[in-house]
Amino acid sequence: MAPRTKERQVKVPIIDKFPQWQKAEHFNQVYSEMQLALIEKYPKSREGDLLVPKNDLQEALRGLGDALDQRIIVPRMQMHPMWIGEGEQSDARPALTANSSKLLQEPERLKRIYTGEAPSPLTLHLTLTQVCNATCTRCCCANRAFNEVLLPDQAVKALTGFALLGTPEVEFTGGGEPTTARYFAFMVMLARALDYEKIGVITNGTLLDKLPPIWDNVNWTRVGIYNHELPFPNIEVLKDAGVNVSAGHIFGLSEDDAESQNFNIIGGHHDANRKISPEDKRPTMKTFLAMLDWIDEKAQIPVRIVPDAIRPREAVLRDTILVQEILDNRYQQRRVRISASGGDPNDVVEYAFVADTSNKIRQNDACYMAMFKPEVTTESILGAGKVVVCPCFAYAPENQFSHRKPEFKVCAVDDIVPYYEQGPKRRHQTCSVCQFAGQNGIIDAMLIPTSQE
Ligand code: SF4
Ligand code: SF4
Repeated sequence: MAPRTKERQVKVPIIDKFPQWQKAEHFNQVYSEMQLALIEKYPKSREGDLLVPKNDLQEALRGLGDALDQRIIVPRMQMHPMWIGEGEQSDARPALTANSSKLLQEPERLKRIYTGEAPSPLTLHLTLTQVCNATCTRCCCANRAFNEVLLPDQAVKALTGFALLGTPEVEFTGGGEPTTARYFAFMVMLARALDYEKIGVITNGTLLDKLPPIWDNVNWTRVGIYNHELPFPNIEVLKDAGVNVSAGHIFGLSEDDAESQNFNIIGGHHDANRKISPEDKRPTMKTFLAMLDWIDEKAQIPVRIVPDAIRPREAVLRDTILVQEILDNRYQQRRVRISASGGDPNDVVEYAFVADTSNKIRQNDACYMAMFKPEVTTESILGAGKVVVCPCFAYAPENQFSHRKPEFKVCAVDDIVPYYEQGPKRRHQTCSVCQFAGQNGIIDAMLIPTSQE
């Protein structure tokens, strides 16, 4: 049967079985049957992928969640009850969080670490490709291997492996730009079929309206507004599909470039073909304020501003304070203006906020994030995949070209289930900047006995 319309096709790779996953026999069987049914019905592309209309794929994938009934780890946790406070509640600041206390919403997962049971990570960060269609000055992966991709069977093993461990969230992220990956649409559909409760996409937003219509399967998207040379993204396609949309911005000014340790500014990339970003293309205060205007006046979505952390710690702290002052002044002026014109100052929504994730002081080098927020990324140009400790170690200046460094490798993609079944492990990672310092500290405090009690 021919696909109905070209734009609704999804490329489906043909995947081998998962020989290492003895406990997932039922899953292997269901997956194989699903593929066989598709192979009989749909044509192949020149590259050997099946071309399946999106609506048919949704139906064909439906049985996969049931196959996970044999998952080896505890079922997913219930949502914790929400406490309602007393008094006036203001909605002038959007409620978004990525802070250390989020871990405290996961008592069952913490308990598994405490009791030594097989961990059930909270979020899989999945890097499908290192390829990107943009060149941002402050790219935090500026020195990666730009031509590497995950082969589809590696990505499928990552998605299914963590689903078997009871992981409820997946975030398609970089490395490169996830929406440029050939199987991006299929992987989103597969994640939905595997019952991931939250599916997120970090994207530069350039291809939002050029993809098959998969966005109604995505729960949230963070659009990176890192590059003022790109047009602002067409987020309407996300809003129309009911996706929870926010934006991200890396703050750094060209006048501060002398402090930078980013290869896009100082040069010396691993790949000699990469060039430093020309000075006249770098972000300025003017481009930063233009981004804020777009956020507040047009997009009206929260934007998380992260000071460029590939610089000395003092510079990061200084910019955290600077950006907060800019935002405080900006929104105060807006409140004064609206009051002067007879309006209600409480109507001013503070869409922009500063993330403090790069500023936390580490207590020690203990690192548990492979148990909570692992990333699956590329290991070689030939498409081998590996699990690494966390998605953020590239932010530490000394970790450039870090996705290749062996000290961050946890296990191969083929070994996800057997590795995690061995039980929780404390690692020692010396990253000078750790986005998860607060979360690592919470787990450390839970595990380390105090000497005076
Ligand atoms: S910041 Fe993101 S969009 Fe920009 S070059 Fe890096 S990977 Fe590409
Ligand atoms: S210590 Fe390094 S590897 Fe561990 S969570 Fe922090 S940044 Fe990631």
